[in-house]
Amino acid sequence: MSLEIITVPCLSDNYAFIARDQETGVTALVDVPEAAPILAELDARGWGLDLILLTHHHDDHIQGVPEVIAKTNAKVVGAKADAHRLPKLDMALNEGDSINIGASEGVVLDVSGHTIGHIAFHFAKAKTIFTADSLMALGCGRLFEGSFAQMWESLSKMAVLDPDTLVCSGHEYTAANGRFAMSVEPENTDLQTRVKEIASANAKDVPTVPSLLSLELATNPFLRPHSPEIRVNLNMQDASDADVFAEIRRRKDNF
Ligand SMILES: [Zn+2]
Repeated sequence: MSLEIITVPCLSDNYAFIARDQETGVTALVDVPEAAPILAELDARGWGLDLILLTHHHDDHIQGVPEVIAKTNAKVVGAKADAHRLPKLDMALNEGDSINIGASEGVVLDVSGHTIGHIAFHFAKAKTIFTADSLMALGCGRLFEGSFAQMWESLSKMAVLDPDTLVCSGHEYTAANGRFAMSVEPENTDLQTRVKEIASANAKDVPTVPSLLSLELATNPFLRPHSPEIRVNLNMQDASDADVFAEIRRRKDNF
C-alpha cells in the first residue's frame, strides 16, 4: 500500500485521517474536527503536514483548520462549489480533478447528498477512498441538503470501485447503523457476523472505521437495495433500486 493511513478519533465520534505517501513522505490530513489530537499524532511521528483535504462544510469537519494551518503551513484543498462556506482554499476542485499526495494519485468524486458539494477523494492505486459523511461504515450520511436521488447516484459511483478499497468515513456510528441494518436484512449472515465484530470492537474501544468496500457491499443496506430480503421486508419487490434506497433512508431517519 502506497498510502499509510492513520485514523485519528476527534470530538465525541468524528474521525480525521492522516495519509502519508510512503514514496515521498508527503503527508495529507482529511478533515479537521479539532486540532489537538491531529497535531499530537503528527508530533508523535515527527511528521509535517503538506495538505489538508476537506470533504464538506460542516463545522465538525473543518473547525480545526485555522489552528492546524498556524502550526503546519499546510495548503487547504476543497470543493470549488463549496468555496464560499469552507475555510480559504489554496486549491478548489471539481469532480474529476486530480488530487495527488506525493506520488499517490487521486481523483475527486462529487458525492452530494448529505450536503451539496460534498466530495470524496479516491486514490485508486492506493485502494483508498475518503468518503466522510457520504458512504459510511454500515450507513450513509443523513440528507441535509441533497435529494434521495443524488445520494443514490453518489453511492452508486463508489459501489463500482475495486472491492478491496479502504473506505475512510467520518464518524463512529457503526453500532447504531448495525441495529438499523439488522431491522431490514436480519437474515444476512455477513451482516450478523459484522454486528458481532462491531460489538467486540466497541467493547475494546477500537475504531470500526475504516472498512473495506467489499464488506460494505455485503452488509451496508444503503448499498443493497437489490437485496431480495430487503425488498420483501419493505414490500417493494418491483421497485427500482433508487426507490428502495430512498425508502431505506426514510426508515433510518425514523429508526
Ligand atoms: Zn457532515
